[in-house]
Amino acid sequence: MQVTDPVCGKTIDLGVAEPTEYLGWAYFFCSDACRSAFLTAPDRYAPSHRPPMSRDHVSGPPRSAQ
Ligand SMILES: [Zn+2]
Repeated sequence: MQVTDPVCGKTIDLGVAEPTEYLGWAYFFCSDACRSAFLTAPDRYAPSHRPPMSRDHVSGPPRSAQ
């Protein structure tokens, strides 16, 4: 199985890469340089597969006008 390095986009063999856990997700990097780059700015590299924040409070039940 292969994974993609979120920093440089390189494809890595899962057997070779060491997982780095961030927010409960395991990320794989081709090198220490990529891993430090990720850990420096995780928000920049973390894919959008994090659990979606519930931002649609707007579509809830109508507020009682009081
Ligand atoms: Zn890399």
